Amino acid sequence: MRNARTPSAPRHSRVLIIGSGPAGYTAAIYASRSALDPVLIEGPQPGGQLTITTDVENWPGDASVQGPDLMARMSDHARHVGAQIISDYIVEVDLSKRPFEATGDMGDRYTADSLIIATGANARWLGLASETRYRGRGVSACATCDGYFFRDKACAVVGGGNTAVEDALHLANFASDVYLIHRRDTLRADKTNQARLFAHPKIKTIWNAEVAEVLGDGGKVTGIQLNHPVTGEQSTLTVDGLFVAIGHDPATSLFKDKLAMDQEGYILVTPGSTATSVPGVFAAGDVQDKHFRQAVVSAGMGCMAALEAERYLIDKDAAAALAEDVRPAAASSDVVHHAA
Ligand code: NDP
Repeated sequence: MRNARTPSAPRHSRVLIIGSGPAGYTAAIYASRSALDPVLIEGPQPGGQLTITTDVENWPGDASVQGPDLMARMSDHARHVGAQIISDYIVEVDLSKRPFEATGDMGDRYTADSLIIATGANARWLGLASETRYRGRGVSACATCDGYFFRDKACAVVGGGNTAVEDALHLANFASDVYLIHRRDTLRADKTNQARLFAHPKIKTIWNAEVAEVLGDGGKVTGIQLNHPVTGEQSTLTVDGLFVAIGHDPATSLFKDKLAMDQEGYILVTPGSTATSVPGVFAAGDVQDKHFRQAVVSAGMGCMAALEAERYLIDKDAAAALAEDVRPAAASSDVVHHAA
């Protein structure tokens, strides 16, 4: 966290968007094109999870595109249509007052008539002390970022989803040997990815195995200890790197006790909508979606959130105008009443 400085006057917007993945940028594009002059706060990882991905082959219209390039294009698009994109990290929100208020880590304040939460999700870790000890020294949650350092070395990937399989395939471009460690005997990755994995000569899958310990020499990883619950055995695998690819947790701690969430911390929304438990606050993308977690789905939700924020603001303005119209009439009838 950066040091706080003297806060300036709050910056007000009709729509404040927190988060800069596909959901956030799409919301910014739609809100801008509805003349709502949105402000988008990028957060700690501008561009979100796709900036740590290489090839994206399922974004409609692009047979293959690099994740960081796709996000740069989305950001450019949002700016082009007039969204204000601000580099800040929101550390506090107040959803109890109107307008809503958010505070950045340098003390900058933002007020808004409506709020779109698009803060995404963060990588999940195994929770071993040895994993933490060797993080950045052989343990990583980003094969795309760190795979290059494992040229001609042996690596293990833990997990059985698409991320784990794609990480293993990516690492096989550099590493001498890649082991995919999965706790069950079937993968949840899609069949195309599985076929690529099983066909790769450098990749070996180790089924029904759990990483019990990360082994090292004090400076770097030297191996992992595996438990095999089905056989009750233990084994040691010599590797230079361990890539953890076991899913993500929604980045929603900022909204704890302020919005309704499920037990895993995903923001609850009205079915078929992005509306949260607080009127005027909308949630789009991986913060509320644990089923699909796809860029294109997040983008669709960003669109929905912007359209719903627009509808909310129209209704709010209409209610305010009606109250203004009614007030003088009520006042004049009071006057008549008193005069009589
Ligand atoms: P997933 O939730 O799909 O998979 C997580 C994997 O980690 C599962 O195999 C799970 O095992 C395993 N796991 C979870 N916790 C532990 C633990 N404590 N110890 C060991 N293993 C554990 O997450 P992903 O990040 O792979 O994918 C997220 C979403 O993004 C998915 O919908 C996926 O399809 C999508 N995606 C799509 C891509 C594409 O289309 N190109 C690329 C990457 C992701 P188990 O199976 O036993 O539950």
